[in-house]
Amino acid sequence: MKQARLKQPLALVIVSIAFCFIVLLGGYWTQSASNSIVHQKSSILNGLSRSQASALERRLASAFTSAKIMSYEVELHNGDSPWFDSYANRLIESIGGIENIQLAPNGIIEKIYPLAGNETAIGLDIINSTPYHETTQQAIITKKMIAIGPVPLVQGGVAVITRAPIYLNQGQDNESFWGLASTLVYLDDLIDATQLKELEQDGYQYELWRPHNDKVERVTLSSSAESLGELRSSSQLVLPVGTWTLTISQNIADELASNQFKGYSVSVIIGFLLSIALYALLIQPLRLSKLVKEKTAALEDLAYRDPLTSLPNRRYLQDNLPNTLYKNQLRSRISAFIYFDLDNFKRINDTVGHDIGDQVLVIIAERLNALKGISDQVVRLGGDEFGILLGDIKSTEEAEAFATKILKSVHNPIKFNQREFTLSTSLGIAMIPEHGYDLVTIMQNADMALYHAKQLGKNQYSLYTESMKVNTYNTIKAEDDLSQALRNQEFVLYYQPQFDLQTNRVIGAEALVRWNHPDKGLIFPNEFIPVAEKTGQIVELGHWVIETGIAYLAERKKAGLSDILLHINLASQQLADPRFVSHVEKLLIQYQVPARQLGFEITETDILEDIKLAKSLLQTLKQMGICIAIDDFGTGYSSLAQLKNLPVDLLKIDRHFVRDITEDENDRNIVEAIIAMAHKLNIKVLAEGIETRQQWQMLADFQCDFGQGFYVSRAVSAEDFNKAPPIVHHDQET
Ligand SMILES: [Mg+2]
Repeated sequence: MKQARLKQPLALVIVSIAFCFIVLLGGYWTQSASNSIVHQKSSILNGLSRSQASALERRLASAFTSAKIMSYEVELHNGDSPWFDSYANRLIESIGGIENIQLAPNGIIEKIYPLAGNETAIGLDIINSTPYHETTQQAIITKKMIAIGPVPLVQGGVAVITRAPIYLNQGQDNESFWGLASTLVYLDDLIDATQLKELEQDGYQYELWRPHNDKVERVTLSSSAESLGELRSSSQLVLPVGTWTLTISQNIADELASNQFKGYSVSVIIGFLLSIALYALLIQPLRLSKLVKEKTAALEDLAYRDPLTSLPNRRYLQDNLPNTLYKNQLRSRISAFIYFDLDNFKRINDTVGHDIGDQVLVIIAERLNALKGISDQVVRLGGDEFGILLGDIKSTEEAEAFATKILKSVHNPIKFNQREFTLSTSLGIAMIPEHGYDLVTIMQNADMALYHAKQLGKNQYSLYTESMKVNTYNTIKAEDDLSQALRNQEFVLYYQPQFDLQTNRVIGAEALVRWNHPDKGLIFPNEFIPVAEKTGQIVELGHWVIETGIAYLAERKKAGLSDILLHINLASQQLADPRFVSHVEKLLIQYQVPARQLGFEITETDILEDIKLAKSLLQTLKQMGICIAIDDFGTGYSSLAQLKNLPVDLLKIDRHFVRDITEDENDRNIVEAIIAMAHKLNIKVLAEGIETRQQWQMLADFQCDFGQGFYVSRAVSAEDFNKAPPIVHHDQET
């Protein structure tokens, strides 16, 4: 962004230079165009002045020559002139452009052809009368033809008059001045014979002039109404009376000024517009790059930040941690990665809703941020999982001290909307580089340590050790073996009889799973159920047990054997399986087994893990007609108060109480109390682990309803259970 700002003045400088350049170029072009106009106009003027001058020249030269011819004729006739009229007529007719021809013996006009209209001029003394006096004298003295004009004539009009002096006996001793022959040309007629008037109308000016006979100044013979303009062209008329000049001009100052104004204006406007366009073009990439940078930063922020807590997310860790680790390695720094999640956080979401759950996460994130040091990084890895990279520590103890701080900080009660939550967390610590220096290894090892901390009972931290890896390996191996066993149908169900203590009759059985391992033989559940629970395979295995149990009930019915109540053990993960009820319903329908023949045994601990969920599920199952039994009663919280809120049909007293019942008064009292209390709650009681007749008898005396134990039978195969003999007490035999 800063860079883009710095470049804008540079763009302005470039644009200013471009503007000046365009305007200068426009100025040059305008000037060239003006010069071209001047040149073009000059050429036209030259052509015009030449053509008009030559037209005038022809006409004047003829007129002037005719005065000379007339003077020769008079000389030839020795001063006689009776031929004048006819000769003059011929001259005017043949040459043209002559207004009249005159003869003035001794300077007095005697003859004029044509006379009509010119009568007033007869008798005029052209030697002595003004304005002719001076020039006429000059012609006589120099014996050369002269031109006079412009002359206002007595008969009207303005004319140019040519006078040729006539001497008789020229070159001889008796040479004598006779008089003068003159030709007269009207200037207006002369000009009319050219295009000068039309040119004047088209805006040209002209002047026909000659030098004064004896002076430097010039005599204007004819001119346009408007005086000559600044652009001029002159052409000379070479005449018998001297050289005359025709100047034609044109006023182009206004036109030039107008053209230049337009040229410069257009240059400035084009320069301005192009500069704006150029500026926009130059600025556009800067704007774009600025925009791209802003958007990229925003996207990166989005991609790298968890929207809820504003902490960096897992992706940030994946993209940035390798670099941090590499730098730390170069500086030989010790770091640690602490991986942790909140214990039982799901319960908050389930009980008070996700909105409050989210607020709790935000508060935890704030606490973690407050704990971290300058080189540490807190990230939210998803859900209730967090990670802290301690960037620069001195020892393992320092990492452990930090983990303790997190434990305390998380454990501080969170007050929110008049509610108070107390959370705990389990943490796994992996040291860097001791426990790995690439992200995958570090996270895996920290995760293993976290898992270990949870196994140890949560609300604590655990530092990664190599043995965890071995355990994990074993877990993975066991998981594979279990999957294979499920596929190969290596599991079998065994049935341990449950009997009525009062009637001596077998009323049902508890289904117990065994793994018939191809190499190891029969394996008991305590060896594989914990693995199945840890890996989640318990759901699949549990489903298999239920189906096999129900199928067995159907087989018994088909074989005409008595109805029994079959109890099946449930794990907490099965309770949480949303498809559980529909699965059971489907199987009961499929095998045509009534629900009252089915019972589920659940431990108190499993129920308390999520009591709300368990209560609702158990109620549904009970409504279906399934018997609900609390397993191993007395080993967990042993809270009879909890029982009254649960839809329980049967209580199974744990074998530990039954074992010493005949010797230990304490156990005896507990068992008696449990039985009495359960009966008050309308719950039947079954005693587990009955191994002797004395135990049976005592339990029967306490009004215990049912029993189960080696005294009657171990768990046996379906085949053996089917042919089980009736219960016979030896003391009764004897
Ligand atoms: Mg059980």
